[in-house]
Order: sequence, then structure tokens, then C-alpha cells
Amino acid sequence: MSDEPATGSGHEPGPNPLAAGENNIRVEAARNAIHAAIQRKTEPEVVSLEHAVGRILAEDVVSPMDVPPHDNSAMDGFAFDGGSLVAGSALRLTVVGTGYAGGPPVEGAGPGQCVRIMTGAPMPAGLDTVVPFELCRVDVDTVEIPPDVIRAGENRRRRGEDLAKGKPALSAGRILRPADLGLIASLGMTSTRVFRPLRVAVFSTGDEVVSPGQALPPNCIYDSNRFALIAALQRLGMKPLDFGLVADTREALEDAMSRALVEADVIITSGGVSAGDADYTREVMARMGSVTFWKVAMRPGRPFAFGRLTDQSGREAVLFALPGNPVASLVTFYALARDALLRLAGAQPEPLATLEARCTVAIRKRPGRTEFQRGHVFRDDDGLWKVRPVGSQGAGILRSMSEANALIVLSDEQGSVKADEFVQVWLFDGLT
Ligand code: AMP
Ligand code: MG
Repeated sequence: MSDEPATGSGHEPGPNPLAAGENNIRVEAARNAIHAAIQRKTEPEVVSLEHAVGRILAEDVVSPMDVPPHDNSAMDGFAFDGGSLVAGSALRLTVVGTGYAGGPPVEGAGPGQCVRIMTGAPMPAGLDTVVPFELCRVDVDTVEIPPDVIRAGENRRRRGEDLAKGKPALSAGRILRPADLGLIASLGMTSTRVFRPLRVAVFSTGDEVVSPGQALPPNCIYDSNRFALIAALQRLGMKPLDFGLVADTREALEDAMSRALVEADVIITSGGVSAGDADYTREVMARMGSVTFWKVAMRPGRPFAFGRLTDQSGREAVLFALPGNPVASLVTFYALARDALLRLAGAQPEPLATLEARCTVAIRKRPGRTEFQRGHVFRDDDGLWKVRPVGSQGAGILRSMSEANALIVLSDEQGSVKADEFVQVWLFDGLT
């Protein structure tokens, strides 16, 4: 196969404008082109809250009530009228009753009086301030509040201050986190509408690639990409469909793609997308649909194709053809496929958070492509967050990805990095 850019046979008439010049498109342009070519492929379904974490909200959640539903105390202490405080003076009050969480508000406290109140108990009418027990001197049923320990209005939680009735509490497209589920529950709801998980067919190509568990013939290697990619999809809350291994022939690839089209919204392949003699993926993509672009100005991961497949019955799937090198396949997954997959699933994803850390060593780089190095982010003895590139950076060395806890992202324009310079990093893990 030639090294020329493939052009679309179905959706893209004529030569591909994105694949001009050296045929490598920039990472940002690749992301934008993917973004422009996709839309949500999933429909809503209702799930109970205990099955909703990580799912994508299909409609705005509008609060049907005020939360909290009544003014209440934020502390165990004494509720009183904050208007009676005088700067620089102590305040003596008489206790006239006790209010409990879940109980009725204690009424009838007049001037010079206060109410013992527990956290969550409704505020008595006319009282607006709670002084915690530990700040007071208490003598039987008299309380002395020392000067200047509390201001009027403190420690009172207002009705509706968390969520006001009729206001949107959460927006469609949000990926639900634990706090969101607590919030939905606080509105009295037991279930929520989310999009069904995106179905993603995954297969590996390569005559040399063998499934783990089988005997390894000479000159072969075990398939790692399929397992890493399936795991990455699971973490995104998607439904991976394991389509196994596909031999390096046009027929085998076409057969696998046709079968995947029947079941999947998206197809992810690895391998066979560069310009070697056994690399048929793009050719088959172009015949069965279209290739929007291939070859991205990035390292690792230059051979990467994006397009779509269709069949006679009108079924259509978005296709990400990732490179075969194990590091390259994961890096392109995160850099180019992740956000698009979330969008296809119905999410409005936030871009991956980019942090800055000082790089412990110099890195050589030439401008003109984005480079992703595997790095280990750590807090140094001087208290600063730093990143150290991990051992071997070859695109085939999966151990580098496993040892790393972050990717160092060196942008297109950037040249070599000096030791101690700030670089951008994507952390693999956060609060999940
Ligand atoms: P390819 O992109 O097909 O030219 O493959 C590039 C390199 O990645 C070759 O050394 C392949 O043997 C290797 N490779 C391809 N697919 C896999 C896979 N599923 N698991 C591990 N290595 C792979
Ligand atoms: Mg191959």
C-alpha cells in the first residue's frame, strides 16, 4: 500500500484537505475533525441510583423542592437572636427549651432567652444564630456567650441554600459522580435517566498476535492491546465487545468489520494501520465507508486513522484504527479517542486536566509534533511536584506505561525541555 492519504469513498468527496503537506495532521486538528464528525449514538434509559455512578445523565435534573426544606442548625449549640449581640460584650441568656433534629421547632423564646438546639433541628421562629456549646459558659439553665466569639446569622442553614425548588441541579451530559448521586437522592428521587452505555467492538490485528492462554508459536507475541483497551473502555463506563483477533488479510478484516457493524456503535482496532505490506485496515475502511484522516503529527501514535463504516442495511459505526505498538495504542486512545467516545455516549466531557510539574531531566524534542512521554509525578523533598520520565520510552515498551502515573505532553510548537523547566502532564488517576 502506498503512503498516500486515503480519501473517503462514502462521506468525504475528493482529496482530504486535512491531510495536506506532509500528510500529518496536528493533534488539535485531528481532535476537532473527530469532534465535528460525531454525535451521540445512545438512547436514554432509567437506572436506579445505586447503578448510576459513572453513567451519563440524559436530562437536566430540576429540583422539585427546596433542600434543605427548612432553616436548620448547622451546629449543636444554643439558638438565639443575633440582634442582641453587642460588640465587645458578653451576652447572658436563659435556656427555655431543647430542639432536636426531626422534631418540631421550639417556639416562644423571647428577649434574653435561647434554645438548646441539635444539628439539623429546625430553627425556632425569630432566632437566626447558633453558638456552639463549646464556645459558651453554661450554668444549669443560664448561658454566657463570651464577647466577639460569634456573629449574627452564623451556623444557620437556610431553606433552599443547597438546591432551590425549580432550579436545575445537574445538567444533561454530566458524568455522574458520587456527590451527584447523593444530590439526586436529596431530592427524594430513587432513579435517574442516563444514556445506555456505548457499545464498542474491539479487535486486534496481526498474524503474529496470539491470544493469552494459547501456546505461543515461534516469532509471535501475545495480544496486549485488546485487554488494555477493553479495560480503558470499562473505566469510561462503556460496554466493550470483544471481537478477538483478526488475521492480516482483507477478507478477515472485512468479515470482522461487518460483524462488528451489526452490534457496535463504535469499532476500535489496533495494528495494521501504517504503511507496511500487511497493513490493510485503511484500505478496508475506505472500501466499507470512509477515512476522514490518518497520520497524526504525534509521537508515539503517528499511524492512526479515523473514519466510519456503513453497510447496505444502513448501519453505521464510527471507527478508530489505533496503531499496533502497545504504548501508541493507549496514548492515541487517550489523546484522540477518549473525548470522542464520551461524546458519542452522550457526555459533555471536560477536557483532561492538564497540570504543570517541573521536569527533573532535560528532554530532547523537535517542534512540529506533539510528544507524549511516560512520566512519574511525585512530590519532591522540597515540597514541589515534579515529573521524571520513566526508563525506556519506546512505543512498544508497555512497561513504561505501567510504571508511569502520568503522561508528559509536549505540544507541537515546543522544542527541547531543559531540566527543571515546567512541563504539562496528564495524571492517570484522580479522585474517582
Ligand atoms: P502494526 O501497527 O500492525 O504495524 O504493529 C506495530 C507493532 O505493534 C508490531 O511490533 C506488532 O507486533 C505490535 N502489535 C500489534 N498489535 C499488537 C497487540 N494487539 N498486542 C501487542 N503488540 C501488538
Ligand atoms: Mg500488524
